[in-house]
Amino acid sequence: MQKYIHSRGWMRSSTEIAIEIISDFVNGFLSKCVETSEKLIPTRFNDKMPRNSGVPIVLTASMIEMSDFKLNPFIAFSGGFPLSIPKFVLRKKLYPNFHINEDGTAKYAPYGLRKVETLLIKEFGEENVATVHPHNLHEFVGPKTKVIGISTMDPLGIGFVSRTYTSILRLNGKPATLVEFEDLLSNVAFRKYKPRIIVGGSGAWQIPRAKMQDMLGIDTVLIGQAERSVVEIFRKALDGEELDKVIITQMPKRKEVPTIKKPSLYGTVEITRGCGRGCAFCSPTMRQRYSFPLEHILREVKLNAKNGTRAILLQTDDLFLYKTKRNFIPNREAIVKLIQSVDKIEGVEFIQIAHASLAPIVNDRRIVEEIAPALVEKSLWACNGKHCASIEVGIETGSVQLMKKHMKGKMLPYTPEKWQDVVVQAIGTLNDNDIYPLATLVLGLPREQEEDILATLELLEKLKNAKIFYVPLLFTSEEESILKGQRHKDLKDLDESQWDIISRCWRHNLDLWAPELNKIILYGTLLTSPYYRWKHGRKIVKPIMEFSGLEKRFVNRRLGIECQPQCCTSSFYVENKNKNS
Ligand code: SF4
Repeated sequence: MQKYIHSRGWMRSSTEIAIEIISDFVNGFLSKCVETSEKLIPTRFNDKMPRNSGVPIVLTASMIEMSDFKLNPFIAFSGGFPLSIPKFVLRKKLYPNFHINEDGTAKYAPYGLRKVETLLIKEFGEENVATVHPHNLHEFVGPKTKVIGISTMDPLGIGFVSRTYTSILRLNGKPATLVEFEDLLSNVAFRKYKPRIIVGGSGAWQIPRAKMQDMLGIDTVLIGQAERSVVEIFRKALDGEELDKVIITQMPKRKEVPTIKKPSLYGTVEITRGCGRGCAFCSPTMRQRYSFPLEHILREVKLNAKNGTRAILLQTDDLFLYKTKRNFIPNREAIVKLIQSVDKIEGVEFIQIAHASLAPIVNDRRIVEEIAPALVEKSLWACNGKHCASIEVGIETGSVQLMKKHMKGKMLPYTPEKWQDVVVQAIGTLNDNDIYPLATLVLGLPREQEEDILATLELLEKLKNAKIFYVPLLFTSEEESILKGQRHKDLKDLDESQWDIISRCWRHNLDLWAPELNKIILYGTLLTSPYYRWKHGRKIVKPIMEFSGLEKRFVNRRLGIECQPQCCTSSFYVENKNKNS
C-alpha cells in the first residue's frame, strides 16, 4: 500500500491511488492470462536422438530475430515492446519462421550469423556447423554438440527504440524480444546435453550490462565484430578450454570479412562498415570504415536473389560513405553504379537501403536524382497508391550547440551552424524524388538545455510540410560508444518541451501517414489521458492535447480552416523547388 500512497516522493490523491490500483490489476490480469495460455502449449521437444547424435556447432537466434517479419524490416522494431498477446499468436502472425530447408536447417538467417557460419564452415567443415531455427534445435542438438552460437540485436529490449516506446506507453511486462530470448535459452536440449553457449551480435552488450549472464545460463558474451576472433574462440570451446565470460573481440581488416555462403534474412548485403563521422552516442563510428568491393557485394546479392529472398537490404550506416572521397564528399559514380548493378540482377524484386546521412545529399543532389528511379520502382512501400522509397536518416537535434558537442562530423563538409539548413534542404531533395525518410531524433543527450530543445522545435516547424516519419528516441548509452559511461535518459526526466517534441512528431506522423485514424486517436487519447496524466505528471497535459488533435481542431475551426495534409505536402514541394531553382 505504501507504494500506492507515496510515489516520486509526494503524497497522492485518492483518485490517483484508485487509478493505479485498477491499472495494476488489469495489467497483472492480462499478464497472467498470457502466461497461463503459454503453459498450455507443448514445448517442441521429444526424446528422440538427433541424426548422427547432433552437430558439433549449432548456430541460431531467437524466434523473433530469425523472422523476416514478412519482409518488413521496420515492423521488426515492434519486437522490443511488451505485447500482451500469447507467443503462439505472435509467432504465427507477427514474426513467422517458415523458411526451412529440406534438411531442417534455416533457409535464411541474420546476416551476422551467416558471416560467422561462413568462417566456421571454412575452418571446421560444413558437416560440423548447422544454422537452425529455434523450433528445430531438437533435430540438431545432441551429445555431439559442443557449442551453441547465438546472435542477437536486442536481447533484453533495451535498445534505443524499445526502451523509449515501452516507457512512453507505460506497457507492463517483458518485451517480446526478451521473452523469445529467454525461451531460446531455456531449450530442453541445452539443459540435457550442456553445450557451451556463446552469444554475440550488436545487442550482446545488454546482457553483462544488465548482469543477466548467469541467470540466462550464457557461458561467454562476445562484444564487437566477429570476423577476426570468432574461429579461435569456437576452437577453444570445442576443445573444452576455459573462455572468459566476456570477450572483447578484435577489429577485423576488410580482407578478413568473407562473403556469405548461404542466404541472409531480408536479403541483407553489407556495402560499407564503420562510419567515422564521430557521433558520440553511436557505435558504428567506433569501427574502422571501409567499403566492400563491388564484386564482393554483387556475389552476395546474386546468392540471395538466387535463393529467393526477393528483397535486397543494402546494409550500411550511410549509403554516401560508399567509396567516399576526402572530407566525406560522396562518390556519385560509385554509388550510382552500385545501385544500378544491384537493380540489374535477376530475381531482385525489392531494394531497400538501411541508412543515409543528410549532408551528402546537399553536397550532390544528383546522386539522389540518379538512384531514386530504381529505388522507387523496387520499393517495398507505397504511398497514396504509388510507389515511394524510404530510408532511415538521423536528424537527432536542431541545436547547433549539441551538434558541436556530440556530432561535429555529422554535417561535414558543412559547419554545425548550417545543420538546420542541411536537414531542410536534404529532406526536400529526398521528397522531390519520392523518397520519404524515417528520421530519428534523440532526446536527452548529455548537457541538453532548454535552448537546445527549442532549437529542435524550431527545426520541426521548418519541416512541418515535409514527408517524413519521425521516430523520437530517448538517449541510450550503448557499450561501444563514446558516451558509454553516461546515464540513459529516462522518461521521468523529460520536461514539457521534450514531451512537446514527442507529441509533435507523432501528430505529424498521423496527419501524414494515417489521417483516417485521427478520430480513433482523438477519442482514445481523451479517454486514456487521465491515466497518462497520472503516470507521467502534469507536464504531459499540453503535449497530449496536441497529440490528440483536439487543440488543432479547435483552433482550425475557430479560424475556419479545414486541414488537409496533402495540401501542406504540395506546398512543401513548391517551397523547395523554388529554393533549389
Ligand atoms: S553519421 Fe550516423 S553512423 Fe555515422 S557516426 Fe553519426 S550516427 Fe553514427
